[in-house]
Order: sequence, then C-alpha cells, then structure tokens
Amino acid sequence: MNGTMMDYPLTLNHILERSGKLYGPVEIVSRLPDKSLHRHTYADFYRRARALAQALQQAGLERGDRVATLMWNHYAHLEAYFGVPAAGGVLHTLNLRLHPDDLVYIINHAGDRFLIVDDVLLPLYQKLQDRTHLRAIVVPLTGRPVPPGYLDYEAFLAGAQGDFRYPELAEDEAAGMCYTSGTTGKPKGVVYSHRAIVLHSFASVMADTLAISQRDRALPVVPMFHANAWGLPFSATMVGAAQVFPGPHLDPQSLLDLFQRERVTFTAGVPTVWLGILETLQKQPHAWDLVPGMRMAVGGAAAPESMIRGFDRFNLRVIHAWGMTETTPLGTVSHLKSYLAGLPEDEAYAVRATQGLPAPFVEVRAVDDAGAEVPWDARTMGELQVRGPWVAAEYYRQPDLLDNWTADGWFRTGDVVTIKPEGYVKIMDRTKDLVKSGGEWISSVDLENALMGHPAVREAAVIAVPHPRWQERPLAVVVLREGARATAEELREFLAPSFARWWLPEAFAFVTEIPRTSAGKFRKSALREQFPDWQWE
Ligand code: ADP
Repeated sequence: MNGTMMDYPLTLNHILERSGKLYGPVEIVSRLPDKSLHRHTYADFYRRARALAQALQQAGLERGDRVATLMWNHYAHLEAYFGVPAAGGVLHTLNLRLHPDDLVYIINHAGDRFLIVDDVLLPLYQKLQDRTHLRAIVVPLTGRPVPPGYLDYEAFLAGAQGDFRYPELAEDEAAGMCYTSGTTGKPKGVVYSHRAIVLHSFASVMADTLAISQRDRALPVVPMFHANAWGLPFSATMVGAAQVFPGPHLDPQSLLDLFQRERVTFTAGVPTVWLGILETLQKQPHAWDLVPGMRMAVGGAAAPESMIRGFDRFNLRVIHAWGMTETTPLGTVSHLKSYLAGLPEDEAYAVRATQGLPAPFVEVRAVDDAGAEVPWDARTMGELQVRGPWVAAEYYRQPDLLDNWTADGWFRTGDVVTIKPEGYVKIMDRTKDLVKSGGEWISSVDLENALMGHPAVREAAVIAVPHPRWQERPLAVVVLREGARATAEELREFLAPSFARWWLPEAFAFVTEIPRTSAGKFRKSALREQFPDWQWE
C-alpha cells in the first residue's frame, strides 16, 4: 500500500552509533582479576568496538563468520558484543564453565573462526586449542604480556586502519549465537538475528518489564555467556545506562562491595547467587549501604517466595522473570498489576513469586498431553508453549530436533506450568523433573521453594525417586544452614499446611551441598544419580 513507512532495518549498529553519539561520558566499570576497577566510558567503548570490527575485517572476517568469546563479564566482552556484529560477524559466547570436550564439540559444531579469550582463561583454551581451528585474540586483563603465538587484543585494536564503515546489514541476518547449557541433554545452538535482539531490547527496558533507563547503573551478575546476560548489555547500551561488570569475582562479599561502591540500581542473576547474598546480608545487616530499592532480576530457576520477602526487608526489590536461551531469553516478568494492589499481603507475594506475565509480543499457552490448550484457571497443569519475534524457530544445524516445535509454529519449552486467570504463568516443573506419583503430578519446584522458607534450610532440591507402589515419590535433598538443625519430621510438618497430604515427601536426605550446573542451577540429573535406589521403609 502507498504512503507507508521507510524500510529501516532493526540492527545493533544503530544501538552502537546512538550510544556513542549520545552517551559518550557515561561510565563502563569493570572489575579486573586482581580486583582493581577499570574505568571506561561509552566514548571509549564506541571507539574500541568499531576498531574491533575494523580489525576483524582486516583479519579476513567475512559476513556471517562466527567469532567465539571465552570471557568473564567486562568492558572487552561488551566491545565484542557490538564489534563482532558491526563487522558482519556472529558473536558466539562460550560457557567457560563447560568441560573442554563440550567446548570442542560446540566450537566445531558452530564452525567458529576467531576466538577472543581472557588471558586468565588461556589455560582453559590451551586444553582444547589443538582440537579446534581458531585464531585466538587474547585480552591482557592482568596487564602481563600476551604469550607468543597469540594475537594481543590491544595490539589488534591498535592495528585497525582507516575509518570504519558499517556493512549494510539486513535485520534478519545473524548477530549472535548461544548454546543451551545442556541441563537436559546435548548442547543445542540458538542463532539470534539483529531484529530479534533489537526487539528484545525494547521489550526488556519497558516500565512494566525490567524498566532499564539512562538513570540506571546496571550490573549483570549473570554471565555474558549465559543467554546474552539476559540481553542486558544490549538493552543497557540502547538506553545509555551506566554498566558495571563484576569480572570473575562473583562471591556475595565481592558483589555486595561492588553494588555499594558503584551505586548499582539494577542487577540480575540466578537464584543461587541471591540466596548467598541474602544469607550474607542477614548475617551482617548493617555492613553495606546499598541504593534503596535496588532492583534484582531473578530468573534461570525459580525464585523462592521467602527470598522475595527476605530482600524486601532490606528494601531490595526482586523482579522474578522466566526465560530460555531459545527466547533470547526474556519471556515473562512478574509485577503486581495495579488492579491487584489491594490483595492481602500473602496473595500479593504469591503473585510476585510466579514467573509473571508474558512480555509484549510473547504469546503463551499451556497444553496437555493430548495437545489441547488447558484453561487459565491457576490449577490445570500443561506444557508451556511460546511464540514471538525473539523465539527461536529451529536449532542451529539440528534438523532432527524440529519436533521441539509444534505443527502450528509454537516452541515447546519443556516447562510445565499453570496459568492464572489474570495471565500470570507459574512454572511447576521441567517435564523431566516432575514427580509422577500414582498417576498425578507433583511439582518439585513448589516443594523445594517452600522448604527454602524454613529458617534452618539453606537450600533444598526435590527429585523423583522410584517407588514400588506409587511409581515415583518425592525425595527432598536438603542443605541446612551452618549450626542449624531440623529433622525430617519437622520439615514435613512445616510443609503440611501448604500442600495436599499426598504431595508431602516422606523421604529426606541431608547433604552438605547440591550439585550445580555451569549456570548455577541445581543439577537434578546428578542428584538422581546420587540417589539411584532409595530404600523405602
Ligand atoms: P538450560 O536448559 O541448560 O537450563 P536455559 O538457561 O536456557 O538453559 O534454561 C531455561 C530453563 O530454565 C527454562 O526452560 C526453565 O526450566 C528454567 N527457568 C528459567 N527461568 C525460570 C524461573 N524464573 N523459574 C523457574 N524456572 C526457570
């Protein structure tokens, strides 16, 4: 039809240009391995990201070539986030916590050509370099000379010649890729288009999602190799927020120091990180002076309600969100709608503890085993299916996995949910983690979150174990707080008021730690191996 709008591509290059032109003096702060703070501005970032793009092109990077990163969260990783796509390349973030064999598989499956690697991670790279074909560019984070045989990142940037000119990119070209961390099987590659990341950035900064603005000082605890640090480096750059990066120092004490010192207003990470931080704050309630109302996006696994309440007492605000590598990752975010503001406190917390409402342009539905949509009645469980402009349409070079999508074009998440009439999605479990007891489903997530509300419990994970009569029953694996005591009987009584009797675990195991995945989630597959044949009395 005549008289419509320009055909203007949604690409990351616009975000890079805009940030350099509008936010030059805004800070980018990074903690280095020796704990000192490295300070840059958007002006530095703008210059250096384009120098990286230029240098990559001079080094032979061609349109669509994959450039891997093996890096902590810091200024140079941000430069790669924009410099690689600006060159027409594809940023492929590698999970540095994976086993070298898995990294070799992922690098070769993706066909990576270049690698940007932190000098402190060279020992990891050296375990796999002979099995891959990469040109490695080393970031001298420690300031020590880069060993012979590798390109020095600073020299590489300094070698960029002439004015950089952006290639003309179409919005559906690839800008990035990421492999799922493989909590539930072989790593699968997801390719992000420029358009998907740009639209995802718009959705993430909205007042009713993460509300990121120029006034924020944003610190992603979530690694930049875990689903694009949930898109924060892109969304924060789009709005010109100051960015603070923790480098390799992710223990509660170091993070709290950095929140305080850099006046952080927005941060994000998986629940295990926040459980540690909350415990540290509770032990030393007056040790840190944080910005009142600091927002903490929590996702990747369920945020226990007790944790949301616990942080409220410190005037720190948890925003519970759900997402997946396949959804770029933001899918749903939980905020109380204004017309629910009058709810009694307990109910309001229960709403905030759900995974929340779908972001605009994310469609959700819950589907039963027969493929029929279940009602939004807060009770009926079904598999969550989603679709939208930043939801993957396939896995990279894995045509055998297309049955993760339905015939009518929805992505099967593998998460089992209920949906409230108001649209709040509540994750009950992963399909593989559900406890199937006597033909009924028990949510392991619900039980473990309730257990973590007990004052003696530091962490709890519930797994299904085989049962002669009921097929499966829940086993609660519990880590107690230092010096605290609780018996199985006490914990059962604690749960009793909140659950149907047949949901209550009769089996409890007390352990000193729960195995974690590379992304910091409970690794339930390992727990199941740890308790292969539970002896029922
Ligand atoms: P992996 O599959 O390796 O864990 P992802 O990081 O992509 O990789 O994980 C996505 C999954 O994490 C979701 O399918 C869901 O099971 C879980 N998840 C993410 N956010 C939440 C949340 N807020 N509550 C419960 N589970 C979550």
